[in-house]
Amino acid sequence: MQSRIVPANSEWIAEAGQMLRGGALVAFPTETVYGLGADATNGEAVARIFEAKGRPVFNPLIVHVLGLEQALIIGSLSALARRLTEAFWPGPLTLVASRTANTDISPLVSAGLPTVALRAPDHPVARELLAAAHRPLAAPSANRSGHVSATRAEHVAADIGGKAALILDGGSTMHGLESTVLSVIDDAPVLLRPGAITAEAIEDVIGGRLARREEAVGHLTSPGQLASHYAPNARLRLNAYDWQPDEAVLAFGPVAEKRAHAFINLSESGDLIEAAANLFAALRALDASGAASIAATPVPPTGLGEAINDRLRRAAAPRG
Ligand code: AMP
Ligand code: MG
Repeated sequence: MQSRIVPANSEWIAEAGQMLRGGALVAFPTETVYGLGADATNGEAVARIFEAKGRPVFNPLIVHVLGLEQALIIGSLSALARRLTEAFWPGPLTLVASRTANTDISPLVSAGLPTVALRAPDHPVARELLAAAHRPLAAPSANRSGHVSATRAEHVAADIGGKAALILDGGSTMHGLESTVLSVIDDAPVLLRPGAITAEAIEDVIGGRLARREEAVGHLTSPGQLASHYAPNARLRLNAYDWQPDEAVLAFGPVAEKRAHAFINLSESGDLIEAAANLFAALRALDASGAASIAATPVPPTGLGEAINDRLRRAAAPRG
């Protein structure tokens, strides 16, 4: 199937909004590069993004919102973070903040982290689409993993053609450079990725020097902050074909259920998209069951299974 490239006029944007609400992927222009968007509250739609991009791991995705009001429902923004939104939103500044307790953003968007990356794009098509979708949109760059970002609709079609239900053609994007990513989890912001908004412009607003990622490694990996990956408290046992009654079970596919401390099947039908959508919430729930060990049955290593297995291996790795 080829993706349909359509003009980014009001009719097609309204249609695209409907499609997003139905769980489809839509590529759209932003002021940086083209994004591949999905309803951020729909785990399966988000899982399809990873599949479409062929991402070998679940990197957390940026959530696009219309502005501060919508952002506050999703992330906890400090007074300083709000000042930054006043200065740079809408625009190419992405803020990484703690997820709010009640957010309905899929855990897969955050790759299981307790944080979420938020940005309000400054492109008329992106904004009209957000309004039409009535949803926050998870959207990484609309290119295959490892390829250069797409700055034209034809680039998107060439790279991920067939994976997006629709590609909204809004011409060439302006910056052609990704957004600046800034952690505002703590009082002192940290530059995680340089981008279209310069560090100097941010320093002017915060009235001091901005810490760079390299300088903040200890700070970012300290417990409760930006963990490099989600690891449950319980021990995770991989490729388990059997389990003890006191173990929790993370199953995949047609696994016969027998006595266990807790049992969650990521996808009884063996659907990797469904499994990816459920992965982080399932790990959390099994961990909360209080079992000392989680036995995970095998997940095939193909397609999204590669990313699922990568995450499971990391979660099972000895803790540093
Ligand atoms: P892209 O996929 O090209 O849109 O890039 C998204 C960038 O945002 C990547 O560098 C991610 O690592 C970063 N990012 C997204 N969410 C988070 C988060 N919760 N914590 C830290 N970085 C994040
Ligand atoms: Mg990218």
